[in-house]
Amino acid sequence: MDFRALHGVVIGAGIGGLSAAAMLARRGMHVTVLEAGAHPGGCAGTFRSAGYLFDAGATVGCGFHKEGPLELLGRELDIEWPVSPETVAWQYRRRGRRIGLSGAREAITARFPGSVQFWEEQARLAGMLWRFAKDGLPWPPTSPGDLLMLSRKAVAELAGTGLLAKFIGRTAHEWLASHGLDRHPDFVRFIDAQLLISAQASSLEVNALVAAIALDLPASGTWRVHGGIGRIAELLASTVERDGGAVLYGKRVSRIDTIRREVLGVETADGDALAADLVIANLTHEALAGLDGGPSAVDMPGARHQWGAFVLYLGMDSSAFSEAGCDHLQIVAPDGEPGEGNSLFVSASAARDTRRAPAGQRAVTVSTHTRPGPWFEALRNGRDAYLDLKAGYTRRVLDLLCQEMPEAGDAVRCVTAATPVTWARRTGRAGGFVGGYAQTSLFGVPGPSTSFDNLFLVGDSVFPGQSLPGVVTGARRTVELALRRARKIRQ
Ligand SMILES: Cc1cc2nc3c(=O)[nH]c(=O)nc-3n(C[C@H](O)[C@H](O)[C@H](O)COP(=O)(O)OP(=O)(O)OC[C@H]3O[C@@H](n4cnc5c(N)ncnc54)[C@H](O)[C@@H]3O)c2cc1C
Repeated sequence: MDFRALHGVVIGAGIGGLSAAAMLARRGMHVTVLEAGAHPGGCAGTFRSAGYLFDAGATVGCGFHKEGPLELLGRELDIEWPVSPETVAWQYRRRGRRIGLSGAREAITARFPGSVQFWEEQARLAGMLWRFAKDGLPWPPTSPGDLLMLSRKAVAELAGTGLLAKFIGRTAHEWLASHGLDRHPDFVRFIDAQLLISAQASSLEVNALVAAIALDLPASGTWRVHGGIGRIAELLASTVERDGGAVLYGKRVSRIDTIRREVLGVETADGDALAADLVIANLTHEALAGLDGGPSAVDMPGARHQWGAFVLYLGMDSSAFSEAGCDHLQIVAPDGEPGEGNSLFVSASAARDTRRAPAGQRAVTVSTHTRPGPWFEALRNGRDAYLDLKAGYTRRVLDLLCQEMPEAGDAVRCVTAATPVTWARRTGRAGGFVGGYAQTSLFGVPGPSTSFDNLFLVGDSVFPGQSLPGVVTGARRTVELALRRARKIRQ
């Protein structure tokens, strides 16, 4: 079908918004992306500060494996991603012990010998889930056609469907218990640290099937993005423009104009108005509801964002990473729940990459999960209260970093911090929530549809949630539903 006469507006140039925009532009639709900030990428952007090029949030490239969401998107859009595979996805450090996470599980099973069968089962489940999701996953279903496609997939994977059904209602913790692994606090902590970064909750809450995929991340491979993770968004934005669309910066959408169940267009804070046949919002539900004229927020317990991020951007001497032999580290404190400075993810720019740091140095991003509420409360209590909290977190994070990486002590040249307050300002995410919703169930998950027929959501607030491959997979579903609507408009 010819979509050239249709105009799509995408609010936000995060990875989800740009992927959807690029796919629509490729199909001939006239697309305009309106981005509030000065550059694309949002949580997966890269910014310049004090002579360094820092990754703002996301640092690990994933989904570039053969037939992975990014690899498929690159092929569809004729993009050659500037990536190369990492041999070790990241190194886990706790109490002085180290485990390199990669496709091979030997390092893990050497440390936790009782977990061999668990990992075999995890690989089987993840393999089935990847196959199930291949060619699109119409989830949550919105039409009889979606249900038909799901049942066809279920029949094609009949043997596996039985196994998936066994796990669908279980938590990751119940799965660990079925292997007797719940009685090993060190193993549970190792799993919890991984689930927090890839599923936004602990094994007690994360669904077992989600956990099987989340734990597959180091096995399916991670990639270094040359020039910083923001290159992915930059390339997507160029693709939109190459295919006849436009990406406009400094354009914060403040209003959605509607009549009954239709969106007619959007207005920006600087007074522009654009008519649209379709609108895709790369926003959280709360941020969309916060726009004048936007749909009211839907409260889906399974779709709540719970975490924000506290991030330190460090300029460091390159030598601090020589001994690690790996540029990504996950550092976990001996005690205390993961998050809130008790678990850190540390990523350094490549050695000798002078585009990102002065010679002999690295641009380093260190993040920890934090609940946003106290940060906004501190801000309400005055600037000093907020700055005290920030200084306390900075100390706590640097202390844990130096505890497990003593060579970092003398290597830090400069420090900048971002709190949930920074993230709210930087990405327009209401309440400073980042990282997607907590993946506690596969049911009641948020999809792209809204109460307006031609307004759709994209990004890590909708299924399957966070991460580059997550939001690209979600963007495919958003595009599918938007095109379904476009066909109706064209009839
Ligand atoms: C600290 C941290 C570490 C992470 N690490 C990784 C990792 O290593 N690997 C990985 O794959 N994923 C990682 N993630 C997750 C990943 O970054 C996100 O899931 C993903 O980038 C979110 O993309 P999105 O499409 O939801 O858009 P967002 O990143 O939320 O971008 C939305 C865009 O919309 C713009 N916008 C908002 N409101 C408006 C408005 N009213 N008008 C116009 N524009 C607007 C914003 O400025 C922003 O550019 C991490 C996330 C964080 C926070």
